[in-house]
Amino acid sequence: MFSRSNNRSNSKTQGARIKELPKACHYCVNNKVVVDYKDSATLRKFVSSYMKIAPRRRSGLCAKHQRQVAGAIKRARQASLMPFIPK
Ligand SMILES: [Zn+2]
Repeated sequence: MFSRSNNRSNSKTQGARIKELPKACHYCVNNKVVVDYKDSATLRKFVSSYMKIAPRRRSGLCAKHQRQVAGAIKRARQASLMPFIPK
């Protein structure tokens, strides 16, 4: 897979990953909060500046809530509550 001569870029990505590790799922920590497509203020946290849905390594969500958030963001876009593209 990775050759030894390529370890400069390898160590860069590993360093970035270690920094991002200590995160808990936003929805698992706050038990009462449910994923809601109408709550665009919360969903805004899980999109990038280009309005793309953040991957799990960035959002820090568990698999279950990442799926629910991705669906909610897509629903919110259709309902014009969130933009597809940045202004
Ligand atoms: Zn969760």
